[in-house]
Amino acid sequence: MNIILLGPPGAGKGTQASRLISERGLVQLSTGDMLREAIKTGSATGLRAKAIMEAGELVPDEMVNELIANRLDQPERYSGSGFIFDGYPRTEAQAISLDALLAERGMKLDHVIELLVDADALVDRITGRFSCAKCGEGYHDRYKLPKIDSLCDVCGSDQFKRRPDDNEKTVRTRLAEYRAKTAPILPYYDARGLVRRVDGMAPIQEVERGIESLLDGAG
Ligand code: ADP
Ligand code: AMP
Repeated sequence: MNIILLGPPGAGKGTQASRLISERGLVQLSTGDMLREAIKTGSATGLRAKAIMEAGELVPDEMVNELIANRLDQPERYSGSGFIFDGYPRTEAQAISLDALLAERGMKLDHVIELLVDADALVDRITGRFSCAKCGEGYHDRYKLPKIDSLCDVCGSDQFKRRPDDNEKTVRTRLAEYRAKTAPILPYYDARGLVRRVDGMAPIQEVERGIESLLDGAG
């Protein structure tokens, strides 16, 4: 089963992807995570992407298409259960490229899940976001704090980090990019009957149940 999680920054894509990994054994392909890794390792891609990401703009299509193609060609990273595309595709050109990349490998998309969240909630979600520096588990200052004070629920680390682009100014640019370039790809998938919509304003566990029920065919 191959799924795209679509929604504006802060909609809850990463949060729900991590649930789908543990519950269904799906493999998450997040271009944002791949680009942050490229910045960390100082690769040519990372050097090109850094300033663009800090400004909240989209990196060039070829860059992310190539990252996804490389990942799809690493069978050791593939569990066989399927992929969750998180934060990709973000433009029509990327959507077309993904179709081709999947078709070339005998795969296809099964669902595009759009997380619906009020614009007002997004800035609040993003400016309160932090994650475990060791395992990457995501948290929020108010909506999802570690169960034991200052220790990661998953790995027990006491080290946390915040993203440099998770500030109010950059979030506004990221939202504008989403509206201008990403939202217009929904009709591309709608025309094929692939889009399922889930209320992303509900509490995290409820969103999770909504996604599970539609994947089980009850939604
Ligand atoms: P995205 O991957 O779409 O950018 P995240 O999954 O990182 O978004 O979620 C953004 C922030 O909002 C995180 O801090 C996360 O803990 C929090 N969050 C995610 N889903 C919900 C929800 N349904 N209700 C409240 N907060 C949420
Ligand atoms: P994310 O982690 O998905 O919030 O992405 C963080 C940033 O990485 C975005 O604001 C973009 O600058 C860049 N980025 C991630 N994925 C893509 C993509 N598919 N296309 C273009 N830019 C991307």
